[in-house]
Amino acid sequence: MFAAQNPEPIAVFKPKFRTQEILDELKICFEKGWTGLGFKTVEFEKQWSNYSSLPNSHFISSNTVGLHLALKIFKDSEGWKDGDEIITTPLTFVSTNHSILYENLSPVFADIDEYLCLDPDSVESKITPKTKAVMFVGIGGNTGQLDVISEICKRYNLRLILDAAHMAGTYVKRGDEIRHVGSEADVSIFSFQAVKNLPTADSGMICFKDKKYSEIARKLSWLGIDIDTYKRTDPKGTYKWRYDVPHVGFKYHGNSIMAAIGLVQLKYLNEDNKYRNYISNFYDSKFEDNEKFSIIGSAPYCHINSRHLYQIKLNENYNRDIFVDYLSTRNIFPGVHYIDNTNYFPYKEYSGLCPNASLASESIITLPIHLNLEDNHLEHIVHSVNEALDKI
Ligand SMILES: *Cc1c(COP(=O)(O)O)cnc(C)c1O
Repeated sequence: MFAAQNPEPIAVFKPKFRTQEILDELKICFEKGWTGLGFKTVEFEKQWSNYSSLPNSHFISSNTVGLHLALKIFKDSEGWKDGDEIITTPLTFVSTNHSILYENLSPVFADIDEYLCLDPDSVESKITPKTKAVMFVGIGGNTGQLDVISEICKRYNLRLILDAAHMAGTYVKRGDEIRHVGSEADVSIFSFQAVKNLPTADSGMICFKDKKYSEIARKLSWLGIDIDTYKRTDPKGTYKWRYDVPHVGFKYHGNSIMAAIGLVQLKYLNEDNKYRNYISNFYDSKFEDNEKFSIIGSAPYCHINSRHLYQIKLNENYNRDIFVDYLSTRNIFPGVHYIDNTNYFPYKEYSGLCPNASLASESIITLPIHLNLEDNHLEHIVHSVNEALDKI
């Protein structure tokens, strides 16, 4: 029986690319002689706004730089001071929290809920006169209680920054209305990094609610220059060299190579997320009655979870290291998303304040979820997970 044997190694992630279609898109860039900012980046921004219904899409080189831009722009425009406080989660990829430090702001860690996302009560309890914003991360494509957090932010006049790195293709339901996630926040930042749901190689999209901030982001992401080269080049190829530099900006913009890949991948995003949901439903159906771990489910606000991750949380008497080692003998290589960031050097001084995050950090596991997994792989994973928990 297949499930008893070891198949080829099964990684937690493996992106799928539509190779021929991407090569065709890239060919257009190479033949035109335009691989940089403009051209495909403009087209991709338009397509992303069409897809997500978020009005101000700006294509950038990564989600990380977008998080930085968001904080810098709010800080400069709204008179935040060094040391002002940003409420954030300890259970995230370090980009989220590093961006706070880039701008000399202070991270204030709130605890997480059953969805591994920020807990609204904990967030509210951390608000002080110095609080300026909340950074929310939709872990694994789940919305968590983003709707409740958004109300809190309105009530206390705080900016809401959505790290939507996992949320390309996450839809929410408000009353009868179904829409792509992101409009709850003052700014939403998506990642199109190599293993995210819309993989390119490295790129991202920053979508401000306010057009004024989006325009600043566009200038700051190209070194503070006021008019980019593409805008100074008309379709016939005539080019105007003159520009001004009103700001000290950064080299954070995206390019046409990444955008060309993204344009193709975007066409398949909903279909791909559907397959991710097939996998997560498969796991759910096999694991729902087990008493050895809990499954991290979708929040009620989440209409479609992009299912970037499928996460389980081991009960107390199971040791994660032994469990993961056992799975590796079956050629299965799960992940952990994430370790409580206060275990890391830059955030050490904040450790021990969020018990739910500390506990989750020790006991969560991400099972393989990607588009190359077929039923026989899934059977093998389910069988091996059960076997591991019987033996350890
Ligand atoms: C991947 C990721 C990022 C960073 O995205 P990049 O595009 O690689 O910069 C930020 N936050 C979370 C939660 C992520 O998973």
